[in-house]
Parts: sequence; C-alpha cells; structure tokens
Amino acid sequence: VWTNCLHFIQDNIQPQAYKTWFEPIVAVKLADNALSIQVPSKFFYEWLEEHYVKILKSALTKELGENAKLVYIIKMENTYGNKQPFTEKIPSSNRSAMKTQDVDIPLNNKNPELRNPFVIPGIRNIKIESQLNPNYSFDNFLEGDSNRLARSAGLAVANKPGGTSFNPLLIFGGVGLGKTHLAHAIGINIKDKYPEKTVLFISAEKFTQQYIDSVKKNNRNDFIHFYQIIDILIIDDVQFLSGKSGTQDVFFHIFNHLHQNGKQVILTSDKAPVDMQDIEQRLLSRFKWGLSAELQSPDFETRVSILKNKLYRDGVEMPDDIVEYVAKHIKSNIRELEGAIISLIAQSSFNKKEVTIELAKQVVEKFVKNTKREVSIDYIQKIVSDYFQMDVDTLQSKTRKRHIVQARQLAMFFAKKLTKASLASIGSQIGKRDHATVLHACKTVDNLSSTDKQFKKYVEDLTKKLSV
Ligand code: ADP
Ligand code: MG
Repeated sequence: VWTNCLHFIQDNIQPQAYKTWFEPIVAVKLADNALSIQVPSKFFYEWLEEHYVKILKSALTKELGENAKLVYIIKMENTYGNKQPFTEKIPSSNRSAMKTQDVDIPLNNKNPELRNPFVIPGIRNIKIESQLNPNYSFDNFLEGDSNRLARSAGLAVANKPGGTSFNPLLIFGGVGLGKTHLAHAIGINIKDKYPEKTVLFISAEKFTQQYIDSVKKNNRNDFIHFYQIIDILIIDDVQFLSGKSGTQDVFFHIFNHLHQNGKQVILTSDKAPVDMQDIEQRLLSRFKWGLSAELQSPDFETRVSILKNKLYRDGVEMPDDIVEYVAKHIKSNIRELEGAIISLIAQSSFNKKEVTIELAKQVVEKFVKNTKREVSIDYIQKIVSDYFQMDVDTLQSKTRKRHIVQARQLAMFFAKKLTKASLASIGSQIGKRDHATVLHACKTVDNLSSTDKQFKKYVEDLTKKLSV
C-alpha cells in the first residue's frame, strides 16, 4: 500500500521534496484501514502535516478508501546529531537510543490538543552547548539610568522565557554599551532557573556562516531543524544580516516557528529597528512585535561604578581620583572605559610605576585619540559626496557614470583605509556591492592616484578632510 502511495506522491511533488520528506519514511504496519508510518522526528511529522497532508490524504484514500487513517510513529532519535555539523553534543549513550511512540492522529487534524501527544518527554535528548560566557552575568552588569529599562526587560524575560510580551526582546545601542553582555546575562539566568531548557547564544555572523555552509553541503533542512528545537535563541548583532536576503529568509522561518511555539527570541543590534537598512520589512515588523530596549551611554556615576567593579573583580586597588579621571574622560563606550583601566594597570605594573594622574592622562589621551580616528562609513560617504557635490543616494546608485563611479570607489577606498570594516561590510553599506567590487575599487584608486594627477588631488583633498 505504502509503495503505491509513494508512487502517487512522487508523481505529484518536486523530486527534491520527495527525497527529503518521503524517502526517509518507513511503513510499519497496516491494520484495518490504518497505515502506520515511521518518521524520523517530531519536526518531520509537523512538517508533513503542515505541507503534505493533502497529498497524503489523497494517496491513502486512493489506496484504502474514505475511511483511511494514518498513524505516525516518531522515531526518537536525533538524526541530526550524527552529522554534528554545528555545536551540539550528544552523549554517546544517547546516540543509539531509539524509542518509538505510537500516536494516532487522524489526517487533517488541526486540533492543538490532539497534537499535544507529540510533546514527548525525552525526545529532546540533545545537548546543545549554550555558548554562554559566564563572565557576562547579571551580577557583573551594573545598573544605571542608561540601561535600567533594557536590564529589567532582560530580567523579566529570564524569569519567564517565552511567557512575556517581550518576544522578541531586541536590545539595541551603540558599540561597547553592553548589548552582548546583557544578552549573555539573560541566557545565563535562564539556564540557572530552567536547566532543562535549551539556550543558544550565537552571533548573527556565525549564524550566517552556518547557514551558508548548510546550503553548500545540501543540508539546509538540518540547519532549520536544529534551530527549531531551541527554547531560547539569542542572536547577537542582527544588523549583520543586512543585505543577506537568504539568511534573513531562513531566519524569518525559524523565528516564526519559535515564536508560534512560545519559544523566546532575544536579539541585539547596533541600530534601532527603524534605522536598520536592508533588512526585509517582514522581519523588521517581527522585531517590533516584542520590545525594543535601548542601551544608552552610561552617566558618570555608572561609569565610576563599572570601573570600580572591574577593579574589585581583578583584585586591583586604585585611588578614587584616578578612577574618576578615567570615568570623566571616556564617556561613550564601556569597552574603552575598561580598556583604559586595563592599560593603566598594565603600564603601572610593567614599569613598576605608581598609578598617577599623569599616567592616567597619557593613557586616556591615547584612548580618546584612537576613538576619534575611527570614522564611520556613513561619515566617509557624506564627505566624499559633499566633495563631489552629489548626494549620498547618487553615490550609492547603480549608475556607471564615470565621475559617480569614481566617487564611489573613493568612498570604498577610504572606508577600507580608515575603518576596521571588512570588504564585504563596506560593500553592503556603500550601495549593496560585494566584497570583490570593493577590492577592485581599492586597487583602482591605488592605480589612478599614481597615474592621474587630477585623481591624485582628489585623494589628497579627501585625506585631509577625513583626517581627524
Ligand atoms: P556591545 O555588545 O554593546 O558592543 P559589550 O556587551 O561587548 O558591548 O560590552 C563591552 C564591555 O563593557 C564588556 O566588557 C562588558 O562586560 C562591559 N559592560 C557593558 N555594560 C556593562 C555594565 N552595565 N556593567 C558592567 N560592565 C559592562
Ligand atoms: Mg556586542
């Protein structure tokens, strides 16, 4: 019977889909009008129900008549784990463990209560390493006006993951203001309270890489399955997805699945949703479903307490006036604040010098200077467009007009020279180009500035304008 059904299905759906979703099915038994089939996972069952219920029904009705019934048996084995492409680890004792569970579900059953039997304890014998950094706990995340909202939203989510209206929770704010730290803190707190829940912290960059790899290796479905069994998914720096429509697409599906199943999603971004560029509208609108909480620059008191906490944890003593001096002069980036104090400690111990205000001045000066030198790609585009009397949209446009192309290439060249951004990221910010285009631009500018006098002048003028 099943073979006949398969023939029928094979004739009616895409070969790839057939291969993925029907070849792994094993027919187990036929009793009366009920055919039992074994599927590899709960997810697999849900997928069949969602996408192929019609065709299954037609096939079965054809074979067994109107009263046909289908029984799914879920093979409780983590087929995904054996391939181990990502981060999960399966204890070897579980690897071969295979249990089955019969669940009788009439075709077309959409009643969620009847679907409940599929929430089978023990099906998730998968251990996923959370990738959480224990140093980034709530204890070490000092509270201040600048982070009070985000912090308490984080705590609320940690108390009831998936059970608040903060889903997704989006934490946004500038560089070095504690987004990554807070995201870890939430994950750690959830792990403490709910050890049975699967938490995964991953950067959007790594997520993208995994996705690309999965497509290359032809196991995109495995990638999706993997993410769909997570209870708390934390994705850091989602702005990285900008311009990456394939990854956005797959994330959209994963997000929907998790959200619908009451799972918690936590995101961080260096921009508010309204300012995110090249992120699909449907994703942005999902981001707005929950809560967007901003991390702002900390005020002076908070900066002092962050520094003191850091010194305390490192077991280092430092006079208050020095701590305050550092806190007073480094304002907008907690990472730099910490960097300055670390460098101060290092210099004093290396040179066996006492930490004096003079030393603090030198160190702080270096930090402040360094920060100034890093200009943004937006700023570069603005300066270059102004210089050539065009607007930024023109600079980014697809046109091949020579002077516009040159302006664009110069902007890419300076972005490479003056920022730490990768070629790919420069390309995506300057009119959605790829990294090869940026590389080409940099070479062209190098060549032209040694052969073309006028062009050389452009480079010199812009260098002056862009130097801080
Ligand atoms: P972002 O991800 O926003 O760029 P991070 O989370 O990496 O920033 O934070 C930068 C550094 O500042 C980290 O070392 C982090 O521990 C520290 N930090 C940020 N916010 C706080 C805070 N409220 N209390 C203590 N340390 C903080
Ligand atoms: Mg970060």
